[in-house]
Order: sequence, then structure tokens, then C-alpha cells
Amino acid sequence: MDCIFCKIIAGEIPGDIVYQDEEVIAFRDINPQASTHLIIIPKKHIPSLADLSEADSPLIGHMVTVANQLARKEGIAEKGYRLTINCGEQGGQLVPHLHMHLLGGRRLTGKLG
Ligand code: AMP
Ligand code: ZN
Repeated sequence: MDCIFCKIIAGEIPGDIVYQDEEVIAFRDINPQASTHLIIIPKKHIPSLADLSEADSPLIGHMVTVANQLARKEGIAEKGYRLTINCGEQGGQLVPHLHMHLLGGRRLTGKLG
């Protein structure tokens, strides 16, 4: 499949991987917007948030749990951080493989869109 994030999962292109388990993988964003900018993705190819089914609820819950653990590990948990999922063209999604952005390490703007 011609999906850049699936290629990182498969080890076909390099990624700065900081965490992985059976269901998810997390790596550093190639174009970081803050000192901590991680991408957390399911290993299963799900194109976007809009493609999640109810059966995926445990998976998305697990992704949030992993994000929180990584925020603690990165040392940004106390001061605060942001988890973002962009969905679709107008939501600003560029890579069509569901992903969460974990951002922190500076005061983020209040701007949401
Ligand atoms: P989005 O706009 O929500 O689809 O975000 C896609 C994110 O993936 C952007 O922040 C990119 O910098 C990041 N990205 C794209 N290609 C790579 C890559 N090969 N390794 C790490 N991050 C990437
Ligand atoms: Zn994919």
C-alpha cells in the first residue's frame, strides 16, 4: 500500500520511533511544531477519524493512554500538552492514515483553526 505511515510501520522508510506495541506505534514528527511533537498511529491502516467504527473504541482509547504515557516520558505532562487529530481535507489532514499529534514543550497558541 502506498501509505507513508504504513511504510514506517513496515520499516521500509526510516522513522524516529519512540514507542511501539502490538497495536500502535509512535515516532517523532519530521517537521516538528514544538520541542515535543510525536505522531501516534494505529498499526492497522485506518484512513481517518471518520473511518473509525464503534469496535475501534478500545484502540482509540489505547492511543490516548499511550499519548499520556509519552507526555510523561517527554517531561511535558506537568506543564501541559495538546493531542490533536486532523480529519479530512478541511480538517487539515495531509497523511491519510489516522494519527494523533502530541505537542508540548512551549505555550501553544489558543488558535484552533
Ligand atoms: P496531518 O496534517 O495531521 O496529516 O499531519 C501529518 C504530519 O505527518 C505532519 O506534521 C508531517 O510533518 C508528518 N510527517 C509526514 N511525513 C512524515 C515522516 N516520514 N516521518 C515523520 N512525520 C512525518
Ligand atoms: Zn497506512
